[in-house]
Amino acid sequence: MNSKIWLSSPHMGGTERDYVNQAFDTNWIAPLGPNVSGFEADIEQYIGENKHVACLSSGTAAIHLALVQLGIEHNDEVICQTFTFCGSANPIIYQGAKPIFVDSETDTWNMCPNHLEDALKDRIKKGKKPKAIIIVHLYGMPAKMDELLSVAKKYEIPVIEDAAEALGSTYKHRKCGTFGDFSVLSFNGNKIITTSGGGALVSSSEEEKQKTIFYATQARDNTPHYQHNKIGYNYRMSNISAGIGRGQMEVLDKHVGLRRNMNVFYQEVFREIDNVKVFKEPNNNFLSNHWLSCITIEEKGNLTKESLQKSMDASNIETRPLWKPMHLQPVYKDASYYGNNESQILFNKGLCLPSGSNLSDDDRSRISEVVRSFL
Ligand SMILES: *Cc1c(COP(=O)(O)O)cnc(C)c1O
Repeated sequence: MNSKIWLSSPHMGGTERDYVNQAFDTNWIAPLGPNVSGFEADIEQYIGENKHVACLSSGTAAIHLALVQLGIEHNDEVICQTFTFCGSANPIIYQGAKPIFVDSETDTWNMCPNHLEDALKDRIKKGKKPKAIIIVHLYGMPAKMDELLSVAKKYEIPVIEDAAEALGSTYKHRKCGTFGDFSVLSFNGNKIITTSGGGALVSSSEEEKQKTIFYATQARDNTPHYQHNKIGYNYRMSNISAGIGRGQMEVLDKHVGLRRNMNVFYQEVFREIDNVKVFKEPNNNFLSNHWLSCITIEEKGNLTKESLQKSMDASNIETRPLWKPMHLQPVYKDASYYGNNESQILFNKGLCLPSGSNLSDDDRSRISEVVRSFL
């Protein structure tokens, strides 16, 4: 049996171990420490725009602390892109608030500005103005930020930018992760870079960053004893994880390039198959890190979503359906939804393909062989 080709597996650059060893050598195993502040500085420098970064235990924790700092409370409404991973939406429930799901447009697969405005108008008419908008850059593809931010601004609602899949992507030459009132990054095991598990909350001031750290370390008051005026969380990143992150930052741009090459590879592989479309940027304003390369398959001929998945599986190659929209999830069946089933249609015909920066020429040959068997 050939070895497994994964969708997206961790890809170490080489220096990660040095940073982790340093942590051991100095016995800095506890949370905080020089790797954490170093990793934060690395990210701040990379994304630019004078942003301030606080490293946390996960991207989900980062979304949660953004909601906490925006004052989201019991029974508040929060708009959320429906076409996403549950980590974008679940923290709304942690706060006892209500998610209002908004569907996507088909250029970027991200939140549709028109559906967003329809949703806002209707919620306001029903008596409640949503308190935040969570916009996602799915699979690394930047959302239509100009249009979305102008709607948010018109209604004066803060934006949480979920850039968990989009580190290294740009919209009009500006890095994803710098567009929100708060922006979220993830360093989970399968993301573009990994700390084995982790995330970050990006904000616009040092004060907001310190507030994030305060909430992430159990909301301790500045007193000699342990005193608390607020409920906090244990969400800070460890110095060991941050050491891996520092090494990963050294290879981030290289790995973005390699993932983008995978997308070019798939354009080539499927060029002669006219019922398969490889998902790519609508124009030069958008640059995707192509965290995952995705295709959509129209029902025609012998290459179907099911037959391709089955053949890939038989060759020990991992594929995965697109994210199942949140408004179709059993746990969210009672939530409000605005849209035209765009994400459901994509979900029904879409597939994610192996996209890692560590795939070899041999892996690519095995993948294209499976596709060629359909010609
Ligand atoms: C991975 C991911 C998250 C959550 O990040 P974790 O670090 O896994 O908690 C949130 N949103 C999206 C879109 C993601 O892909």
